[in-house]
Amino acid sequence: MKKVIPIVSGHTPAPAFAGGSLADTRARAMHDLRISVTDRCNFRCVYCMPREVFDANHQFLPHSAILSFEEIARLARIFVGLGVQKLRLTGGEPLVRRDLHRLVAMLAELPVEITLTTNGSLLAKQAKALKAAGLQRVTVSLDSLDDATFRAMNDADFPVAKVIEAIEVAAAEGLAPVKINTVVKRGVNDQDIVRMAERWRGTGHIVRFIEYMDVGSSNGWRMDDVVPSAEVVKRISARWPLEPVDANYAGEVAERWRYVDGAGEIGVISSVTQAFCATCTRMRLSTEGSLFTCLFAQSGHDLKSLVRGGASDDAIRNEIAAVWQRRADRYSEIRTEATSRERKVEMSYIGG
Ligand code: SAM
Repeated sequence: MKKVIPIVSGHTPAPAFAGGSLADTRARAMHDLRISVTDRCNFRCVYCMPREVFDANHQFLPHSAILSFEEIARLARIFVGLGVQKLRLTGGEPLVRRDLHRLVAMLAELPVEITLTTNGSLLAKQAKALKAAGLQRVTVSLDSLDDATFRAMNDADFPVAKVIEAIEVAAAEGLAPVKINTVVKRGVNDQDIVRMAERWRGTGHIVRFIEYMDVGSSNGWRMDDVVPSAEVVKRISARWPLEPVDANYAGEVAERWRYVDGAGEIGVISSVTQAFCATCTRMRLSTEGSLFTCLFAQSGHDLKSLVRGGASDDAIRNEIAAVWQRRADRYSEIRTEATSRERKVEMSYIGG
């Protein structure tokens, strides 16, 4: 068994936050917070939680180590006070965490957008409660429309039809338009790109093709497995011409393209071939309450000890502000085959 150990640094005394808008060392603002509510998942996607590593012997976090809903809601409120405008619940698979709608209801009291990324397997049952609790939008991951390919990629023998049903239920409950995440791995599902575009054209939903990334240390990433977004756009455009669209807001992860014939839009997320570190406004709060300022980080900043050690909101606010103000990371700009082999935190732990 290979054990995947997250690395978390201790905290240093932080100067008092003086208010105003926070900028890091590269003048990037703090805009989005992704919250991982569990490190567990019922899928074993080959590029994320390969079964050889995340097997029956893998030690997931014990319940006592993970932040409670009350602790998450308190931290989220402090982040919002520092300028965060969007919260995304993720994991692991967020919908395996019991009663997630309760957390959504607590977060819905904050004046920010609340979204969720899910593999869709448990969404049809929970969509109504999540919407009622205040969830605004949902992103559903679906890597292929070919059942055999999809079952092989999720390595949990989960069928395409159930994910499509979940997307339709979510949309009917008012969580539309749904974003659909497709990670493209060369030789595995890239033959499905045009079919995927065709399936969602004209539905109002937005498929986003994601370059396969070297997250964590367990997926055996190789540059040769990456299909550059430019190739994705070219292949789809050859069938239905596409034109670029302006971002919805500064720092948006996906680059938007729309069909010239008016059948909607797609997105591409090109962390490998067109690094967007310069405009990255995201932070991640791990399942056990560590703060990470980069998806490819090797260590995080422990907030749980502050929360459980009786620190005041002001003290926690100062610590978070100090972490952001010191932030200098730009991993995707300096990525090489060699950096891809460095020991990084797993995506299921840090939150995708
Ligand atoms: N379980 C949920 C899901 O499947 O959407 C949320 C967590 S998952 C880690 C979040 C997103 O990260 C998914 O869309 C997944 O496909 C994507 N992802 C995971 N590993 C990736 C990798 N190596 N490269 C690119 N995207 C990846």
